[in-house]
Amino acid sequence: MSVERISFCAQVNGNFDKAARHTRHEPGLLKQIRSCNVVVQVSFPLRRDDGTVEVIEGWRAQHSTHRSPTKGGIRYSLMVSEDEVMALAALMTYKCALVDVPFGGAKGGLRIDRSRYSDAELERITRRFTFELFARNLIGPAVDVPAPDYGTGPREMSWIMDTYATLAPGQVDAIGCVTGKPVSEGGVRGRAEATGLGVYFAIREACAVAEDMRPLGLSTGVDGKSAVVQGLGNVGSYTAKFLQEAGARIVGLAELEGAIHDPRGLDVDAVMTHRRETGSILDFPGAANLRRSADALELECDILVPAALETQITAENAKNIKAKIIAEAANGPTTAEASDILLQRGVLQIPDMYANAGGVVVSYFEWVKNLSHVRFGRMARRFEQASNLKILHAVEELTGRQLDDATLTAAAIAAGEQDLVRSGLEDTMVEAYVELREIRAREKVDLRTAAYIDAIDKVARTYSERGIFP
Ligand code: NAD
Repeated sequence: MSVERISFCAQVNGNFDKAARHTRHEPGLLKQIRSCNVVVQVSFPLRRDDGTVEVIEGWRAQHSTHRSPTKGGIRYSLMVSEDEVMALAALMTYKCALVDVPFGGAKGGLRIDRSRYSDAELERITRRFTFELFARNLIGPAVDVPAPDYGTGPREMSWIMDTYATLAPGQVDAIGCVTGKPVSEGGVRGRAEATGLGVYFAIREACAVAEDMRPLGLSTGVDGKSAVVQGLGNVGSYTAKFLQEAGARIVGLAELEGAIHDPRGLDVDAVMTHRRETGSILDFPGAANLRRSADALELECDILVPAALETQITAENAKNIKAKIIAEAANGPTTAEASDILLQRGVLQIPDMYANAGGVVVSYFEWVKNLSHVRFGRMARRFEQASNLKILHAVEELTGRQLDDATLTAAAIAAGEQDLVRSGLEDTMVEAYVELREIRAREKVDLRTAAYIDAIDKVARTYSERGIFP
């Protein structure tokens, strides 16, 4: 049987088993780490705007409660199923462990095509789903904290927060029941772009390693490399933007309606504006339309960024992929069989668990901000600025050289919330890549297996530190 017939969840478990063979944990502990602790299915009625009633189906999986709260996005897509939600929840557990975010993994989803519903219907759906979660103690700042994922964004998160706060009156930390909220609703500056910025940092770190670039025939650095991005939602659009800002040439972009190609490079902002105005990325001035959207994956380029959904790179198309680096911005975009083909072909795969961890890292910062009830930088910013100015004035006195006002102001400036969030994100992504490379070298494995080994070891450590499975 082709491995490709195996479900998403089984593929995640297959990756886990492959990595577990490189660890020394006892089988019972490995089984505990791998298994999904809780999965709940709900269905509820929606009164549509035309008066008819429809039944909405959804799930929430808490893969691992070894740490509280559990954390993971909520997606709205027709592909949502129990299997998908369980696979994504498991990836969340491993991702949080990998980047040292103290949460267990969770994921939720509703099987809906959001484009079929009005804004009012989407609000009713989101609020009712929150109620279903609340009624089962599956949401709360200390229990389980959702975030945006495919098909959801800040607006849905603020509906979730408002519903939860209404159901839990007087709960001082209620605002921390969900992350990815608008800044005006308790969100953190820097969350919107966090996943895409994290993907960019992951690519930058991978491209900085000369010994990894050499076998690919590439020089170090992002500058001058060509890239293709599939999916121009939250994650894909920001990844493309940050790659372009770092000097990469975006030669191809793909969306549901089709894909465009321009070897000279596409202007990401201009393509986004064109899509907003015309409803499609196709017919962008100067670019060629591709026959099928999926053809973009096979374009000539250095870096391919699948940022849409799982199972996009399969045994069917893996052999046709020309990219030398694949940065998995989406969760599970590469099937296990495809991943093996790409490994044999020497393609450097930056695994989803690491590449798209920026979202949960900054969600963690948002949760911390919500529980502390103070904006990052609020207490220290003016003080730091004044201290910096004092140091600069002391330097002026010592050197006898006067700095002009503009230089002084620029040099003295202290970090605001977004600067701090981006700095914390960058530090996390840089540190995690160093760890991944060390494990890859020590165990002689690929980056994906190294990521699973790291995650398994860290979750196992939590159990043994608690005296369970010593
Ligand atoms: P999104 O809904 O904002 O955007 C996804 C985009 O992909 C949409 O514009 C959609 O039209 C497009 N798309 C869907 N199928 C496509 C296809 N076959 N070809 C081309 N385009 C296609 O979703 P998102 O939040 O950007 O999430 C994308 C992926 O990133 C998901 O796998 C999600 O789990 C993962 N992810 C998201 C976050 C986050 O913070 N949002 C964090 C970590 C991982």
